[in-house]
Amino acid sequence: MKVIGHENTRKIIRQYLDRDYSTYQLLFEGKDCIGKKLVALLTARAYLCEKDYGFGCGECKSCRMVNNTIDRIYGRDGGEKNPHPDLMVVSPEREIRIDQIRQVIDFLKLKKKKAVIIEKAERMNLEASNALLKTLEEPPENSLIVLTTSNQAKLLPTIVSRCKKIRFAPLSREEVWQILQLQGKEGEDLKTLVALSDGSMCVPSAIAESPELLKYAKDLFMLLTVEGVHPEGIISFGEIFERLDNDRINLLLDIVEKIIYKKMLKGEVDPELFNRFIYENKGLKKAIEKGVKKKLAVEGMYFNLKT
Ligand SMILES: [Zn+2]
Repeated sequence: MKVIGHENTRKIIRQYLDRDYSTYQLLFEGKDCIGKKLVALLTARAYLCEKDYGFGCGECKSCRMVNNTIDRIYGRDGGEKNPHPDLMVVSPEREIRIDQIRQVIDFLKLKKKKAVIIEKAERMNLEASNALLKTLEEPPENSLIVLTTSNQAKLLPTIVSRCKKIRFAPLSREEVWQILQLQGKEGEDLKTLVALSDGSMCVPSAIAESPELLKYAKDLFMLLTVEGVHPEGIISFGEIFERLDNDRINLLLDIVEKIIYKKMLKGEVDPELFNRFIYENKGLKKAIEKGVKKKLAVEGMYFNLKT
C-alpha cells in the first residue's frame, strides 16, 4: 500500500532505525486517520526486512509476510495468506486491557527479532499502561515497539519519555485529494470530501462507509439555521441519533461543525451562531459519552441554540 505524505517523517524514522540499538521504541503522534498505522506497519517491515533496506525491500520472505499482514488489516485478502508471525498489532475496542498487554509481554520474550504496534495507545487503561511501562523500562532485546496516538496527553508521561517521539503533520488538501483519487473518487463527490477533510481522512472515510452521515449532517445544519423553532424536526433527529453509535454521532457533529464553519466564512451564517454551536456541540458530545439518552441530549442542544 502506498503512503501519501509524511516524507520527512519517514526519513527521520529510517535514520532512527539506522542507529545501532538493541531495541527501538517509537511514539507516533498526530491526528487520527492520517496514516500513522500504515507508517507503523512499514516501519515494522523495515525493521524485520532481511536486507534491512529502506522501508523494506518488498521482496524477501519477511517483507512478503508483512505485506500479507498489511493486506489482512486493510481487508485486501480473504485470510488465505500467512501474516508475519513476528509482528503483532494491538488495536483497542473501547480500551486496551491488561490481558492484551500481557500478550505483548509474552510475545516480546521471543529471542529473535520481533515488532509490536499498539495503535490508539491512549486507550490503554491504567493497569495496561503500568504493565507496558515496565516493559519499556526494561526493554527486551531485538525488539521494535511502535505506539500510535492522537492524544499524547492521555498517555503516562513516563511512557512518553521512554519513546522516541515522531510527530505526524496533518494531511495537506493535495494529499487528501490524492488519496481520494486513488480510492476512485471523482467529480463533485471528490470536491465535497476534500472540503470536509480538515487534514485527515476520518470524515471522508466515514462518509464513504456510511453515505447517510453526510445527508444527516446537511439536514441537521438546515434545521439549526432555518428560521423559527421546529420541534418535529429535532424529534425525528433524536430517533436518528438513537440508532447511531457514539463514534458516528461524533463524526456527524464534526461534519455539521465544518459545514457551519464554511458557511460562516462565506457570510451565510452568523459568527455568533457558529460560536454557540461549538459550545453546545462540546456539551452534547460530553453528555452522550457520559450516557445521557442521545435523543434528549440532541434535543437539549437544539433548544439551547434556538432560545
Ligand atoms: Zn525485505
